[in-house]
Amino acid sequence: MQGKIIKVSGPLIVAENMADCKMYDVVRVSETGLIGEIIELRGDRASIQVYEETSGLGVGETVTTTNSPLSVELAPGLIEGIFDGIQRPLTTLKDNYGDRIRRGVKVNSLDHEKLWHFKPCINVGEMVSEGDILGTVEETSIVTHKILVPLGINGRLTEIYEGDFNIDQTIAKIATDEKTLDICMLQRWPVRKGRPYKQKLPPYEPMVTGQRVIDTLFPVARGGVAAVPGPFGSGKTVVQHQLAKWADAEIIVYVGCGERGNEMTDVLNEFPQLRDPTTGEPLMKRTVLIANTSDMPVAAREASIYTGITIAEYFRDMGYNVAIMADSTSRWAEALREMSGRLEEMPGEEGYPAYLSSRLAEYYERAGIVKVLGKEDRQGSITAIGAVSPQGGDLSEPVSQATLRIVKVFWGLSAQLAYRRHFPAIDWMISYSLYADNMKEWFNENIAPDYSELRQFINNILQEESELEEIVRLIGMDALSNNDRLTMETAKIIREDYLHQNAFHEVDTYTSLNKQYKMVKIIRHFDNEARNALKDYADLEEILNLPCKEKIGRAKYVTEDNLSALDDIINEITSQIRALTRGDVTYD
Ligand code: ADP
Ligand code: MG
Repeated sequence: MQGKIIKVSGPLIVAENMADCKMYDVVRVSETGLIGEIIELRGDRASIQVYEETSGLGVGETVTTTNSPLSVELAPGLIEGIFDGIQRPLTTLKDNYGDRIRRGVKVNSLDHEKLWHFKPCINVGEMVSEGDILGTVEETSIVTHKILVPLGINGRLTEIYEGDFNIDQTIAKIATDEKTLDICMLQRWPVRKGRPYKQKLPPYEPMVTGQRVIDTLFPVARGGVAAVPGPFGSGKTVVQHQLAKWADAEIIVYVGCGERGNEMTDVLNEFPQLRDPTTGEPLMKRTVLIANTSDMPVAAREASIYTGITIAEYFRDMGYNVAIMADSTSRWAEALREMSGRLEEMPGEEGYPAYLSSRLAEYYERAGIVKVLGKEDRQGSITAIGAVSPQGGDLSEPVSQATLRIVKVFWGLSAQLAYRRHFPAIDWMISYSLYADNMKEWFNENIAPDYSELRQFINNILQEESELEEIVRLIGMDALSNNDRLTMETAKIIREDYLHQNAFHEVDTYTSLNKQYKMVKIIRHFDNEARNALKDYADLEEILNLPCKEKIGRAKYVTEDNLSALDDIINEITSQIRALTRGDVTYD
């Protein structure tokens, strides 16, 4: 049976004679074969969002269902891939069809000809079940792709072959109760359905990002969810890029969603040149890019975050730690709003559909740290970070509000900080991490026993600074005691020498937890020594002019292989400050 278009409204078309279709079926529209998806079914009428330009489509043209939902191809070849919102490969398309994807082009998501060396890790005769690892492919120099028993399949392994295969060729045979199945490396999975796992676990360890304000003050847990809201130009994209570059995850999925095309071009130009500080390998070798920029069809933007998270789940199922960034979820929500408007649904707040918050929740719900399917006890995680770009930075709007109800980490970017060129402009007075308390133990055990105490010190000083600022505003700096003035100075050191971090400086761009710890320890030591020295009649101005203070300012530029230089600063602080005192006071 063939459907017929009865209405075209931008990216939405309505077709009749569609009674034998299912909700979310993918359809081909017109002779050209444009890709669409059924998003509403009423009787024999289907509303279809079309993932390609619909100009020129007319009433009466045909619609044919494929009888299957929007799915992604999962197999070796994903890493280093650059895809659009419905996983069409952008590089291949560009090579074959020029810059613009020609409409209706039928193209595989992954390369089906390329041969990969498959190495079995299980013997014939063994019982296998869904999620078990059959073998591996060295996909890139840093990612070992694990080939899993497809979901829903359980039985006895009757054959398995080592060798070079493309993703469609049979690499193993599994005898189930009913029949013997040929298993190839390629699997498909519908994007709107989360891939199953055994059990979700509570997050307990950080995903280290190398960004000091994040790791020290507002850490995100592995398997956690975080939002980066901020007005235009406040640094959302730079934060997301920094995480994509430096986050301690084995796989990165980066979804450029509705933002300007040139930002994606930046990613494409810059990422291939970046190298992992620990392995020295190009970072692109662990990255999957999905780009649906503002100049690409709006419906595919709606799909892009699902495409991204499904790929993330697939690598999670192999037992990897995956991080997914979406920039920006506001642009995604606008796509949702546009489709909802065209469906003539009852609009909610600011025209967004009533299901905005449940859709957002469903997306973030797919993050988490889990016990994955399969025999051995394996864990995998997805950490999800979404940028939110509210108009004028006003967080009372629906997308920000819905996001804030879901995420556990909030890195609020402030226009004022960005204006003062304090980057990252993460405002410490409004940001939070609900994981920080649970991860205290982890930091104290893995970094240093006094880690959380030092973190508390930073928090306290910043808090006190904001209270003192209030007093200074009212009655002036002269009203402050020496002790309070020192607090203001320490706060300044924290802000300028610690929280401020230049993403574009070779060394400053990434700081290990160990270095972060040492840097904070230096600042606390300075504060402590200075406070004691003030009691012992030292002059605050003289303390502030000591050469060790300048050293504190340069600590961020000490390279990771030279961290003992930071320990030396501690000694310099002690001797230089104590030289200014009378020596009457016993120190703590
Ligand atoms: P947004 O995505 O919020 O509109 P961007 O991430 O594009 O903002 O940041 C705007 C500009 O701010 C960047 O081009 C850069 O010059 C500056 N910037 C943001 N974060 C940093 C940082 N961590 N270090 C240095 N510069 C930064
Ligand atoms: Mg941006």
